[in-house]
Amino acid sequence: MVEPRGEPTLDDVNRARRVVAAVARRTPLFHADTLSEHVGSAVYLKLENLQRTGSFKVRGAANRIAALSAEERARGVITVSTGNHARAVAWVAHRFGIPATICMSRRVPRGKVEAVRALGAEVLLCGESYDEAALECGRLERERGLTYIPPFDDPWVIAGQGTIGLELLEDLPQIDTALVPLSGGGLISGIALVLKSLKPGVRVVGVSQDRAPVMACSLKAGRPIELPEEETLADALAGGIGLDNRYTFRLVQRLVDDVVVVREEEIADAITLALQELHLVVEGGGAVGLAALLQGRVQPLGQNVAVVLSGGNIDLDRLQQVLACSGHSGGASR
Ligand SMILES: *Cc1c(COP(=O)(O)O)cnc(C)c1O
Repeated sequence: MVEPRGEPTLDDVNRARRVVAAVARRTPLFHADTLSEHVGSAVYLKLENLQRTGSFKVRGAANRIAALSAEERARGVITVSTGNHARAVAWVAHRFGIPATICMSRRVPRGKVEAVRALGAEVLLCGESYDEAALECGRLERERGLTYIPPFDDPWVIAGQGTIGLELLEDLPQIDTALVPLSGGGLISGIALVLKSLKPGVRVVGVSQDRAPVMACSLKAGRPIELPEEETLADALAGGIGLDNRYTFRLVQRLVDDVVVVREEEIADAITLALQELHLVVEGGGAVGLAALLQGRVQPLGQNVAVVLSGGNIDLDRLQQVLACSGHSGGASR
């Protein structure tokens, strides 16, 4: 493995490009015309909901796993996750012929466990909570000499997610504003690193759920903080940034212009609009940028706005609940 070092750079993202291209799709940038009329700016959607494994996380996982030494590859990788990061690590490792172990708590629904097993990983059910599963993950990492693949706070992961920024600039050189879902900050750090390096005038806005938005509160506090986790439709955004955060907190602090939050009903309306009007399946965490746009929460927008739809992994049950409850009548984008 290349020695761990400081913050990722634009060169790192450029180098990540070829690695990422070998495993991930170059997703389309979709011009949403009725939505554009509605908000008064040209709106473009970056369709990472159509990405392999259903979210952008495959980009960072690919770049991290590709940096492993032959010896590390032979021993295998490990992570703790029930969601998109687990799918991404499982899939990339399988593609590279590397053994992958994913730790999940025993409370995780069977469907999630099976989805990751089907991607070729060994799923270990351990503990009754995420924290217990994380402890077990750390123990196995040491005991079996496995390499831990972090979900966001890692230079290679950030550089991998940054490839979205390169694609955005190529497809929309006239971009004024980017709306990016924000949790641990790997996604927005990578994108902002590229946009601010190559086109400093672009506004980069992070969007989080209003239920325990840890990065937003950490920025206000001026240091990484912890909050009790809350249930949210944007389940991919739940969780902390780590009190010992090494990269993303400072990158977000320096490179991101603004962070806004959206409420549960607003996320539900965005998921519904995406399905009804745009014919796109978007999960809660992937729809927060669209929600912020629809609520007029980001001002000024400029003429050309890119919204990252970061993932599409939503259970049919959950989707049905959202559609049944959402107040969206279909009028917003007509
Ligand atoms: C992980 C994830 C995010 C947040 O990414 P961070 O790098 O943690 O900020 C957003 N959307 C989806 C769908 C995700 O899976």
